[in-house]
Amino acid sequence: MTSTYLKDQLVRYVVRKALDLPIDDIELQRIVGSTQYPIMRKVVGYITRRLVIEKNQHLRCGLCNKGPFTKRGLYLHLMRVHKEDILKMIDEKYAEYSKKQFFPRGGVSS
Ligand SMILES: [Zn+2]
Repeated sequence: MTSTYLKDQLVRYVVRKALDLPIDDIELQRIVGSTQYPIMRKVVGYITRRLVIEKNQHLRCGLCNKGPFTKRGLYLHLMRVHKEDILKMIDEKYAEYSKKQFFPRGGVSS
């Protein structure tokens, strides 16, 4: 995951998913590749639950609690203000989840 273009695509995917905007899982697979996809799917699931706070039909930012926003407003806020934060979260969670993947409970039979 080194290309800036792919990082942008990945953040956009995560933010769209967090806001319940139309998105296709195939899209994620295309961005991260089929090797990273199984873990990245879990990472995205974890992060999307933390980006948006929905209260009394108002949307607030889950990272800095700013708001209320419209859906479009929060989309732009997350993309402009928190892109680096989100990439960092993705990197950290990806490392954490792939470690679990390499050392599964019960070990590997050989
Ligand atoms: Zn924010």
